[in-house]
Amino acid sequence: MQGMLFIFVVMFCVLGGYLLYINVTYGDQWFSTPYNPRISTANNIANAGSIYDRNGVLLAHSQGNTRHYASNSDMRRAVSHTVGDVYGKSLGAETYFAKYLYGYDKGLLDIVAAASGGTRGGDIYLTIDARLCNYIYDNMEHNGAVVMMDYTTGEVLASVSVPTFDPENINTSADDETGSRYLNRVTQGRYPPGSTMKVVTAAAALEHGATDMVIECKGSETVAGKPVTCPIKGGHGRVDFASAFERSCNIYFALVSVELGGPAMTRGADRFAFNYEFDFNDFNMLKSNFELSGGNYDLAWAGIGQYKDLVTPMHNMLISAGIANGGTVMEPRTLLEVKYGDRTAYRADAKKFRDETPVAVADDVSRLMRGTVSRGTAVSADIGGATVNGKTGTAEFISDGEVKNHSWFVGFIEDPVHPYAIAVILEGAGFGSAHAAPLAGRVFAKTLELGY
Ligand SMILES: [Zn+2]
Repeated sequence: MQGMLFIFVVMFCVLGGYLLYINVTYGDQWFSTPYNPRISTANNIANAGSIYDRNGVLLAHSQGNTRHYASNSDMRRAVSHTVGDVYGKSLGAETYFAKYLYGYDKGLLDIVAAASGGTRGGDIYLTIDARLCNYIYDNMEHNGAVVMMDYTTGEVLASVSVPTFDPENINTSADDETGSRYLNRVTQGRYPPGSTMKVVTAAAALEHGATDMVIECKGSETVAGKPVTCPIKGGHGRVDFASAFERSCNIYFALVSVELGGPAMTRGADRFAFNYEFDFNDFNMLKSNFELSGGNYDLAWAGIGQYKDLVTPMHNMLISAGIANGGTVMEPRTLLEVKYGDRTAYRADAKKFRDETPVAVADDVSRLMRGTVSRGTAVSADIGGATVNGKTGTAEFISDGEVKNHSWFVGFIEDPVHPYAIAVILEGAGFGSAHAAPLAGRVFAKTLELGY
């Protein structure tokens, strides 16, 4: 009898040790890959935990062997990229936080029990407010993305990508849809930043004291033998550093970029995390691009957000979040906490991502962004009851041989009580001042109305 017990204990230890080995060795990678077949097997789905927003609104849960999502169909679509789906078509919480949902982050005994299909996984609470996401989705008249974050903690309060999909009625066959609607544009969509890049160029100019220039903008200027233009009839007239930023004069910032030179501009962009491999805890994010070939004409356009500049909406939001937070960017997070029953097993802490610029420069750029909203191109982002700072962008791209414009707004509420930064991009919508800025204003107003 004792021999049997001994054999049993040995077998138990070998099995347990193996599972521990797998969990420790492959850890996060193993559980967060969409190709992990464990995630979508019926037995696992039955035991998976639920997903809630920060206020306890139910966003995903299991009923028997089926996964169900928010009952309100607009809300379901609004949060679908953040929540994800059990097929791994879109990488969201269902995939990134699978180790919690399926209980594989528990202790050794729990792991053994979970492997035999015995216990339920953890419930997770996301940082987003699903009502705010729903509001944003209902107000987006173009494809694109909106993302908002508490710049003091890094908690993402809203994240919406359009076109979206319905996780409740997903077709698992490979040819049902174009992949585009499953792509989370917030973290995977790379766009030319257009004039929102002037935030980065202005910071570089301030650091190098290159802010004394005063020019007469006539709407077109020859830089390195070729024309740089401002899309305003007759040009901006006489502009200095502040008014050129507020009114978004391309010629001024093209000349500033050339004055700073390629190496200083590249260093400046790199400090704001261009060309950087992001390695965040809660989600994957594509790298943004800033590269120069050496010519001053390309440098001029790179300094005003064209040429080969590319940025994701999340990254563009983070740049403004750092300006708002005295030059320090917090790591963006979407996971608030994990609970097993009433017990909180994990609660995320605020963590610094990087210092992007000195405090004095951040304060100066913040003032320029304030001027842009109070009297410049972003007046339509202004709202009562809060101080909004921001920058618009109109980014050119070619579609079917035709020049079109993405409409951008980046900015933040300057107030420690309402510390929210935002990025809005509406694809092909036109001028930033006419589309993205007013939407940002409405989203800020809704945010305050909801009590944030
Ligand atoms: Zn101009």
